[in-house]
Amino acid sequence: MSLRFVIIGGGPAGTQAATYAARLGAEVTLIERDVVGGAAHLRDCIPSKAMIATGGTLHHFSEARGMGLSTSGSTVDLPELRSRIVAITHRLAESARGLLESQGVELVRGTGRMIDAHTVTATTEDGERTFDADAIMVSTGSRPRIPDWVKPDGERILTTRDAYPPEEMPEHLVVIGSGVTGVEFVQMFSSFGSEVTLIVSRQQVLPAKDPEVAAVLEDDFLRRGVTLYKGARAVAVDRTEDGVIVRCDDGRVAEGSHALLAIGSLPNVEDVGFEAAGVEMDGPWVRTLDHHLRTNVGHIYVAGDVSGKLPLSSVAAMQGRKIAEHVMGLHKVDHRHLDYEKAASAIFTDPEIADVGLAEADAFAMGRKVRVTKVPFASSAKALINNDARGFVKIISDPATGVILGGSIVGPQAAELIAVLAVAVTNGLRVGDIAECIFVHPALSEALTDAAE
Ligand SMILES: Cc1cc2nc3c(=O)[nH]c(=O)nc-3n(C[C@H](O)[C@H](O)[C@H](O)COP(=O)(O)OP(=O)(O)OC[C@H]3O[C@@H](n4cnc5c(N)ncnc54)[C@H](O)[C@@H]3O)c2cc1C
Repeated sequence: MSLRFVIIGGGPAGTQAATYAARLGAEVTLIERDVVGGAAHLRDCIPSKAMIATGGTLHHFSEARGMGLSTSGSTVDLPELRSRIVAITHRLAESARGLLESQGVELVRGTGRMIDAHTVTATTEDGERTFDADAIMVSTGSRPRIPDWVKPDGERILTTRDAYPPEEMPEHLVVIGSGVTGVEFVQMFSSFGSEVTLIVSRQQVLPAKDPEVAAVLEDDFLRRGVTLYKGARAVAVDRTEDGVIVRCDDGRVAEGSHALLAIGSLPNVEDVGFEAAGVEMDGPWVRTLDHHLRTNVGHIYVAGDVSGKLPLSSVAAMQGRKIAEHVMGLHKVDHRHLDYEKAASAIFTDPEIADVGLAEADAFAMGRKVRVTKVPFASSAKALINNDARGFVKIISDPATGVILGGSIVGPQAAELIAVLAVAVTNGLRVGDIAECIFVHPALSEALTDAAE
């Protein structure tokens, strides 16, 4: 008899684990209460990137004069933008469903819950169903964190999930939070023509990033007329007759037509039955005991945002794949641990920001000797042809061996270009391995071979 694997939550972690485990021969049931593909497809990554793509097109169009074009003003068609986002998410959900079904995964539309360590129930439209499980994976994702000093109303005080797009285009948006999510929302709404104020709790946007990287973004924000309230924490958000007032702890006040909260997320761990299954928690997170993401109950795993590791879709999917390998015993044959330090990530601002592995600032903080080579896109033929030569490629390597330890790219297509450095960092390649590649000319990727010299 095949191993029975039950998964609660069908985001990137759940769908990847289900597909892979089924391919390896497990009998898989995937319980999803909403849409296959998860919040990643429906509410977070995909709608936000679709909005950024539309905003980016509009913004580039408005800046197209330098390319020998004369342009007249364009505006956003909100109903069409909304339909476009729905169409993309629908298409992705359908393709995820098709893939799962083709692998023989049983898809159950309902809310899953463990009632003991080997039994999961699903509350569906047609009543309750019960499943026995040899292994269980919980990948129920996360939701926006809402502190007690603010009450989102979906109208003028928005969470990220109310903004794809909002009912009306904000005249003046106050974004609270300057991490990855916050800056992406600044980028999209300033591209749409909204006035934007950003509340930045530290002295730099993207406080966790290399200051040189953050500086390029701050320059772009200032160029777009974004107002930055640095060193200020929001402590209250109130509605006025036709807008909002955001009060900060240093006494400053930002008035706008709308406010948007982008201050992190909380894991969806309530009502999943962790207690009934005997799974130990660690505050709001599930305690995991090893890199296979096993809980204290050896055959119950957690993956994705609920695991409290690195909250990225790409990481969630890889965790799902690794768990499927472990459940099916494949780790005994051929298994590479998931190394979070080597996960590439990107911020879809303009210019894009992407990095992987060791950052220069972190190497400095650790007192580690590294070689840093940096090439600006200003010397790239393709960047000049494209009329956008902002940013740079930076490669961090070991001075003794030449092994590439990390890299940052700021500039157009950074999220695509970082793939080259991700391959290098994951596989221990040396700078010489990149320098000897013959890339296309003229192409932005040539900056990578130049930086690897
Ligand atoms: C605004 C925003 C933009 C982002 N952009 C990116 C990006 O560009 N790139 C990137 O890599 N990451 C991005 N992320 C992060 C990414 O969305 C998450 O890391 C990813 O969705 C996590 O995947 P997951 O599988 O853990 O869960 P999710 O995608 O959250 O899916 C969880 C699923 O579980 C279901 N569920 C929950 N409870 C139950 C239950 N009891 N029974 C049945 N089903 C249940 C939910 O309906 C949901 O479908 C972004 C996040 C935000 C907030």
